[in-house]
Amino acid sequence: METVRIPNQATYSPISLTDLMVAAPLASRILLGATPPGRALQAVALGAYAGSVAVDWFARRNVRAIDFLDTFGADVKHLTPMPEEEREREVEWLTERVNDEYTAERIPRAELARRINRHLTDFIAGTTNQRVETSSEIRQFTLAGLVFPFALGTCDIFSGDVSILRDAGVFEPHIIAHEFSHRKGYLKELHAQVLGYLAMVGSGEAVLVQSARCERLHRNLWVLADRDPVRYRTMIEEGALREELRDDFMALHPEDGPAEGTMANLMRRLYDERMKLTGQNGLSDYDEGFTNFLYTSERRAAEA
Ligand SMILES: [Zn+2]
Repeated sequence: METVRIPNQATYSPISLTDLMVAAPLASRILLGATPPGRALQAVALGAYAGSVAVDWFARRNVRAIDFLDTFGADVKHLTPMPEEEREREVEWLTERVNDEYTAERIPRAELARRINRHLTDFIAGTTNQRVETSSEIRQFTLAGLVFPFALGTCDIFSGDVSILRDAGVFEPHIIAHEFSHRKGYLKELHAQVLGYLAMVGSGEAVLVQSARCERLHRNLWVLADRDPVRYRTMIEEGALREELRDDFMALHPEDGPAEGTMANLMRRLYDERMKLTGQNGLSDYDEGFTNFLYTSERRAAEA
């Protein structure tokens, strides 16, 4: 099988090059009262960043992208809305599955990232007949995490730099798979959600399957709760989800968390607009779009 290797050099830098470009002049001004060392560092970071982006771009020209509509029968613009009763039935079914197949196993992040990357590469190769090899590196901190307090992970679409911003427990494998899908060139949020889900749910590894199902359950609940943290939390409290999983579900939508402030709401609105400008439906692609996509695709498969 043909293999395309995207070097992702920027992901191997000890700190994020974008952070270095933004923060180096500022830090040197504060620490040294002068800008030249910061400027020099900024120039080095910028050069390394631009170099990495160019090399990746060159490698990426040979990537065969998945045609989502053709392969799965759904796409950003082709989604059958899921009826509410159907969503409720799916919540019930998923709750049963994650309860019955619960595993407490945790895999250390570096090893987890390698396994997820391999499953994702295998899954994509299964539909395109081409292996797109990318880095498995993950960062624990970026300045973007301070700007987007509601984000659990980020991916710089130019350099492929991925960071996981906080411990999301059972959801972590899905978040990594989502960000790694971006790194492999799938920039739309809906596509990253779907690829992450399908690659993990079909991986045959209990921890990864659990994460995928929990993400699908979480997104269904969030839609049913009208994206209201209080209603969402009540649904978890009164639902049948087993004890060991509840805290992780609750932590995603704290009643009074950092995601609820005015600034966070403003950033969320800007982000929603940015998504619409890039041919997406907006933030709803993460939850409503994602669950509608699976619904559309699974219905088509059942009819075939
Ligand atoms: Zn994303």
